[in-house]
Amino acid sequence: MSSIFTKIINGEIPSYKVAENDNFFAFLDINPNAKGHTLVVPKKEVNKLFDLEESLYNDLMSFSRKIALAMEKAIPCERIGVSVIGLEVPHVHVHLIPLQKMEDIQFIKKVKLLPEEFEELAKAISKHL
Ligand code: 5GP
Repeated sequence: MSSIFTKIINGEIPSYKVAENDNFFAFLDINPNAKGHTLVVPKKEVNKLFDLEESLYNDLMSFSRKIALAMEKAIPCERIGVSVIGLEVPHVHVHLIPLQKMEDIQFIKKVKLLPEEFEELAKAISKHL
């Protein structure tokens, strides 16, 4: 069965898309730690980050870097934090999280956003790509 992220990539489940190329898809996390919290996912469905073949792993990091640089331009923050967990969704994804303080990386306090706010954030980030 396809992962929830494969369904998002295929457009079967809606998402606030930030960017896409042949191998990767970036979209806003639906339950963000902070405004602009973005997930970067390889289209190839692999469970664990370090099981990716090396070239795909390197390309994922390179694509994530581009998104993070665009996020820094679009969203006022101290820096972009990076986390890879995967305990909830077994399909590799890089969390890119705009940080103001240490708690923002800790998946404890969540931010509620309206659909319009998600849309604006996704557009604002893509504008800088
Ligand atoms: P992890 O697997 O790294 O522990 O967490 C999975 C992340 O995916 C969570 O931050 C969660 O909010 C996000 N997530 C889970 N389901 C969906 C979904 O259907 N759409 C979006 N945009 N994000 C999701």
